[in-house]
Amino acid sequence: MRLRVGIVGGSIAGCAVAIAARRAGCEVTVFERSARDLSARGFGIALPNPLWQRLVEQGYLPPGVPSCVVHRRVWLTRDDVTPHGRELWHQPSSARTLNWATLWRNLRTQLPADIYRTAAHVQEVVIGQEHGLIRLGDGGETRCHVVVGADGARSLVRQCIAPGVLPTHARYVLCRGSVAAQQVAPIATAMRNLDGAYVTVMFQRGHAVFYWIPSSSSCRTSPQRILNWAVYSQSVPISPHAAAEPARRVLCAALEEMPQEWADLVRLTSPEAVTTHPVADLTMQSYVRGPLLLAGDAGTIARPHAASGAAKALEDALFLERLLASHADVAALLAAYDKERCPAGNDLVKIGRRIGRHQVEAPPDWSRMTEQDLPAWTASTLAGSPHYLYQQGA
Ligand SMILES: Cc1cc2nc3c(=O)[nH]c(=O)nc-3n(C[C@H](O)[C@H](O)[C@H](O)COP(=O)(O)OP(=O)(O)OC[C@H]3O[C@@H](n4cnc5c(N)ncnc54)[C@H](O)[C@@H]3O)c2cc1C
Repeated sequence: MRLRVGIVGGSIAGCAVAIAARRAGCEVTVFERSARDLSARGFGIALPNPLWQRLVEQGYLPPGVPSCVVHRRVWLTRDDVTPHGRELWHQPSSARTLNWATLWRNLRTQLPADIYRTAAHVQEVVIGQEHGLIRLGDGGETRCHVVVGADGARSLVRQCIAPGVLPTHARYVLCRGSVAAQQVAPIATAMRNLDGAYVTVMFQRGHAVFYWIPSSSSCRTSPQRILNWAVYSQSVPISPHAAAEPARRVLCAALEEMPQEWADLVRLTSPEAVTTHPVADLTMQSYVRGPLLLAGDAGTIARPHAASGAAKALEDALFLERLLASHADVAALLAAYDKERCPAGNDLVKIGRRIGRHQVEAPPDWSRMTEQDLPAWTASTLAGSPHYLYQQGA
């Protein structure tokens, strides 16, 4: 008997899990509520290099997918002497950065149109004895042996597994945007530091990261890059007479604290292309209940500076593929998935919280930090957990 797998959500986690389940011989249907192509959600993401290589080797991504290689992390802070800022440390790093849209499209194109249903809003999931029942907004119903909640941060499936469990919001915001390479070119010093680098600019109320990603239309024969940036900052007291909206004021205040050249790079972004996100996270006690399981952001949610959401969704899928290929018993498979992936997700949440504490909520006095301080400081941030963007060594 072929295992029937219904997947709620057709973004990164949903597509990756669908590929995994099909490769293991399951009958798969993806239910995505959006009627539109999801590419417009695109922004820059980073993946650990070893994961990138596994995705290519195992056929999840074709070898030529445009990406930028990161081999060092550059830490900087403002010093009021050079417009570029004071370089604190060059740290080894091993990552690929890519465009969210490119990642999603390359996963999505591996799924035939008849198994990826768009405008399919799942309204209810019912836990049965040996099945899960997926009920759609249009009245349709599908019975599946396994129902995968890949329905993101506000997951409906998570509510069936852990009713009332909701994300916790941090007391700071994330603003992000991107700038075309041609616009960035005049700011020469900052540009030099960006090649092959993941740049982190520290200031007293938070930090900013900068890295290149390929543009969404980039291809092997015509590579084009855009500069992706993200600024994390505590809120500033807001005057009721302030003309700018609160989130923009937070960004403007953060830019005042950054080295001039890096702030200027952010200022090149047109205001309508700047987006603001609340920062939130969520731990879970279990990813599984009856025939339901969670993948990607529907499970745990780590703060974005853990740079791990897409990576975790892909790891969830790769692990599930191995289990599907080796377990005949569905209950044992779900238990094995839960045992591995739920703690892995919770660990990332802890890392994200520690980064938030050390780099936004309670940073050191950056004017006093030196290259000698950085290795111990980043090690204390991680507290023994490895992270691909924080490698120790020469
Ligand atoms: C600024 C920023 C930077 C980031 N940087 C990184 C990074 O460097 N590295 C990294 O790995 N990750 C990063 N991430 C996180 C990453 O983008 C996400 O974690 C990843 O896309 C996981 O996606 P997902 O498929 O689990 O959820 P989502 O992308 O949220 O998709 C959920 C899907 O489910 C659908 N859906 C929801 N409810 C229903 C329903 N009831 N019925 C049917 N469909 C439904 C939605 O329409 C949506 O398409 C970043 C995120 C942000 C915001």
